[in-house]
Amino acid sequence: MNVLVINTGSSSLKYQLFDMDSQTVLAGGVVERIGETQGVLTHKKFSRGKEDKTKKTQPIQNHQEAMLLMAGLITQKIDAIGHRVVQGGEDFKAATRINGEVKKAIQANNPLAPLHNPPNLIGIQLAEDLFPGKPQVAVFDTNFHQTIPEKAFLYALPYEYYTDYKIRRYGFHGTSHKYVANKTCELMGKKSTEVNLITLHLGNGCSICAIKKGKCQDTSMGMTPLAGVMMGTRTGDLDPAIFGYLMDNTGMTQKELDEVLNKKSGLKGICGLNDLRDIHEKSAKGDRLAGLAVEMFAYQIKKYIGAYAAVLGHVDGLVFTAGVGENDGVVRAKALADMSVFGIEIDPVKNKARSQEPHTIHGTNSQIQVWVVPTNEELQIATETCQVLENSN
Ligand code: ADP
Repeated sequence: MNVLVINTGSSSLKYQLFDMDSQTVLAGGVVERIGETQGVLTHKKFSRGKEDKTKKTQPIQNHQEAMLLMAGLITQKIDAIGHRVVQGGEDFKAATRINGEVKKAIQANNPLAPLHNPPNLIGIQLAEDLFPGKPQVAVFDTNFHQTIPEKAFLYALPYEYYTDYKIRRYGFHGTSHKYVANKTCELMGKKSTEVNLITLHLGNGCSICAIKKGKCQDTSMGMTPLAGVMMGTRTGDLDPAIFGYLMDNTGMTQKELDEVLNKKSGLKGICGLNDLRDIHEKSAKGDRLAGLAVEMFAYQIKKYIGAYAAVLGHVDGLVFTAGVGENDGVVRAKALADMSVFGIEIDPVKNKARSQEPHTIHGTNSQIQVWVVPTNEELQIATETCQVLENSN
């Protein structure tokens, strides 16, 4: 079965076509700058180990044009479509076959993800029009976190804010946490129900997850992806009173402040850069704030690992993934330094070695295994799409 995975953003469309029998990618690409003066489409077709790349720069007025361009370049058959949807709220505990009711429920969650759910829904509608009769499945970023218990997902606000306004921790990056957790269990030779893991998705956005016997118990992102550890440009956890204090003292509007918290903070806020490769380079040249940004980032990761070890009681493995988690040995080493109290010890040589394959970086005396596992959210969406369709047959 060939599954097309679609991730529709406000000005982008990412897609990948998988042959699920061989678990290989047949084609994939991205359409960027939709609605801007010049759009860019990059498409790759893979066959027998060969890559055939097409790049087009042209005005792409809307998502419909983007989708038509994509469909024109995919020459292989498509049996089913899996959509990434960011926010499923409490309505969706698992990936779900799309019908009219499902679309209404996704729309009802728009206020919780105003930048993401509306374009996700546009993608679903366009795919239904373009591929009539093909089954479509929604896989939500929030699904995996729906097992978090109430004591961990509630904020200590008046309880009716939860019932009336749906304010609670939802968590994000769920497909990534689930993918790397399952992969790590497979590599450990264990069932997911036998293992406790802390998974660390550290990319431009960062989230950490405590997983007990296959079920998520807690995660660092909250009602929105702004919470948790500091990120490339996002603050992570803040004293909530800072918001009002800043509005009162700077005259910034809520919209301006939102922009600061989401786009001008995190690593960038401290040292002016958000890509850790550039930050390490600047730090090596003696820039104090670049060095401080790395120290703060690693310290906050360390604190979450400690907290989640306490939540889980017993930890079998830590799993690093995404751009920083997979590639940045410096951040990993700093975050895991001096953690022998938890039985964590890394092997500096293994930690420095570069590999695209999943590998361990713990030392021989470590009681907790430490893994680096490349994430594959698209494959996870394709896998769940197949599972939903198999179960509905
Ligand atoms: P996104 O959250 O946008 O999907 P990624 O998971 O691709 O992000 O991570 C992007 C980030 O990964 C970059 O901003 C950079 O900080 C980091 N990164 C990527 N490659 C490396 C590397 N070789 N060394 C250190 N950091 C890296």
